[in-house]
Amino acid sequence: MLDSIHYYPLINGDTDGIEKIPLFHTTDEDYIRSSHDYYLEEVVSKYYRICVGRGGDPDKTRAFTIRCPTCGQVMRKVSLGSNKNQLALYTCQNCNH
Ligand SMILES: [Zn+2]
Repeated sequence: MLDSIHYYPLINGDTDGIEKIPLFHTTDEDYIRSSHDYYLEEVVSKYYRICVGRGGDPDKTRAFTIRCPTCGQVMRKVSLGSNKNQLALYTCQNCNH
């Protein structure tokens, strides 16, 4: 576990909004949730769960391609998530093997 949970706002990496690129991390989830459509939550080191903020749509997250906050490679989906508040979990095969 990390000392504190890290949150990474996601921005669009393409014009279709399918590819998502993480920005700097913060521990202030309230700020991220109110200012971004989508973000990543890192509870366990190197595992990232996608979360939906202010204007996001949980159904759209299934199509996303998400890049690793550390190396920028496309991450692998390791779990589909159980409901709209617990969406898919991703990890990077390049950083975590
Ligand atoms: Zn990586």
